[in-house]
Amino acid sequence: MPTTHQAVLIPGDGIGPAVSAAVLKILKAANAPVDFHEHHAGLAALDHGEDLLPQSTIDAVRRHHVALKGPCTTPVGKGFSSVNVQLRKKLDLYAAIRPVRSLPGVPTRFQDVDLVIFRENTEGLYSGVENEITSGVVTSLKIATRTACTRIAKRAFVYAKRRGRKKVTVFHKANILKLSDGLFLDCVQQVHDNQFPDIPYQTQIIDAGCMKIVQDPTQFDLLLMENLYGDVISDLTAGLVGGLGVVPGSNLGDTDAVFEAVHGSAPDIAGKGIANPLALLMSAVMMLNHLAETHHDDRCQQAANAIKNAYNQALQDNQKTGDLGGTLGTDGFADAVIERLA
Ligand code: NAD
Repeated sequence: MPTTHQAVLIPGDGIGPAVSAAVLKILKAANAPVDFHEHHAGLAALDHGEDLLPQSTIDAVRRHHVALKGPCTTPVGKGFSSVNVQLRKKLDLYAAIRPVRSLPGVPTRFQDVDLVIFRENTEGLYSGVENEITSGVVTSLKIATRTACTRIAKRAFVYAKRRGRKKVTVFHKANILKLSDGLFLDCVQQVHDNQFPDIPYQTQIIDAGCMKIVQDPTQFDLLLMENLYGDVISDLTAGLVGGLGVVPGSNLGDTDAVFEAVHGSAPDIAGKGIANPLALLMSAVMMLNHLAETHHDDRCQQAANAIKNAYNQALQDNQKTGDLGGTLGTDGFADAVIERLA
């Protein structure tokens, strides 16, 4: 086992550098055994005279296999394809996993939310295959392949089994998108029937599913879906537990893993010192758990546990950023977490 793990840090754009700096400070204070190699992506890369997604950044993640990433801005409309979509595709990070949980000290409409979103991360409408057929007529292709649908299904059921999740629910729109969502459903059903028949499994048309989630999220457990639905449902469920400031995520392939919050670069609050670093901090905790699991390294587990206990305690002590109804800024919250590290 290495004395220190090597990981890539992509600070990102907007609030990214500020929340990344706060998280690095906390990781250092918790003696997390990780050295970070900083690389750029997004507008920050353009500012450094590089491509939107530099090859050197991709190579660094391939070399170290683990990255912590801040949000990257993608200009809307013509000219640029999303840096996030490119990164996930180039590294084949096919599974986005986003735990959405109620937090102590963060009162919301529901106090017992415990969901995991599994989002297929490489195809669907994010394939970027768009055409202008003729002036005023465009198409976007929604791609679904048996290979990609089957591997995300397997990953979700393996996760459900390992973590003792109660149930897997697929959100879909196969009543309308009979071929693409139909294939997704077919693949999940086969994986379930052939390999995981013991795990309760159900399907749900997504529009009705959205209503049910906001009425009572506890009726769901692990939610599995294709790319665009996963993007939307991640933000919707974030709203059930306090907002985008508290939902972390991982993007996993078979060899590489990039950990990032669900939120974007939040240009409306960038530079104001008020962004909540918790979602990226929770993503860093997921990274430490991943390193602990893949390298059998107790030090990573200890640092992860210490940070988790410290931020839970900070929230319970009403030490919160403005998005959660508190008065602290980014650095103030980081200091509150550090003070509570055991
Ligand atoms: P956003 O997630 O950046 O912001 C939505 C709202 O949530 C804003 O009001 C913002 O202030 C608030 N918010 C987000 N994170 C917060 C935090 N940590 N603390 C407090 N408040 C927070 O979504 P958007 O405005 O739709 O997107 C802005 C940019 O981010 C776009 O360019 C988009 O493409 C990009 N984006 C990137 C990623 C990523 O890098 N993974 C994800 C989503 C969006």
